[in-house]
Amino acid sequence: MTVEPAISRHIVRVGEISIGGPELTVMAGPCAVESEEILYATARHVAAAGARVLRGGAFKPRTSPRDFQGLGLPALKMLRRVADELGLAVVTEALDTRDVDSVAEYSEIIQIGSRNMHNSALLKEAGRTGRPVLLKRGISATLKEWLAASEYVLEAGNPNVILCERGIRTFETATRNTLDLGVVSLLKETSGLPVLVDPSHGTGRRSLVEPMSRAAVAAGADGLIIEVHPEPEKALCDGAQSLTPEGFAHLMEQVARIRSALPAA
Ligand code: PEP
Ligand code: MN
Repeated sequence: MTVEPAISRHIVRVGEISIGGPELTVMAGPCAVESEEILYATARHVAAAGARVLRGGAFKPRTSPRDFQGLGLPALKMLRRVADELGLAVVTEALDTRDVDSVAEYSEIIQIGSRNMHNSALLKEAGRTGRPVLLKRGISATLKEWLAASEYVLEAGNPNVILCERGIRTFETATRNTLDLGVVSLLKETSGLPVLVDPSHGTGRRSLVEPMSRAAVAAGADGLIIEVHPEPEKALCDGAQSLTPEGFAHLMEQVARIRSALPAA
């Protein structure tokens, strides 16, 4: 019998939150920061349901330049104020090397979006800040390419990379993307980095977010990042995949049950 060498797991610490340890870490909030009122209403609900990190885009990567591009710096300030009031940490995307310092100033975790996974200049810049980096998988990136991207951050002297599976583009069009949960279990076998799953972008459909969250946790994910909006039908972006606060609270109960049924890692 061959005994596989144990991989050493890296836990990313954000204040009192340990990502990649025994606790499941859930990050939640709107796709984009639309106003302080909507952000606060969302954050209050997700915090009450057990989320530890507030998500929300200040700089939005949109397919069309005519779509809502995000509120920029004022949104970063709103995220900070709301999160501080509720005792949450902040994760938000840096879209451009020129935004990295302000994103690092106002948030605990810098998100590198799917469209920028191959942007080595941005990865190096985010790595240089020393802030944890949530690295989303590129829409057509292989596991090898994704891990190579993570090395730009690691080699900048920053060990705090969190990988995020958010679905890849395949021939299937019934869902927005194809959520690759096989890779989540494979990463848990082969890499020491924490792995999160984004079932919101991974499916594009509200009704699939909870079942895919349960599946992600069962597959070994260290956490989830979920889009939530108090009135999804009015959201400026990604309303179709955003949960209501009630839907999110239900999801949290369900994933806690799955997690507690799993053997200790
Ligand atoms: C997001 O999480 O706001 C986002 C734009 O996701 P992705 O980069 O995975 O498309
Ligand atoms: Mn979105």
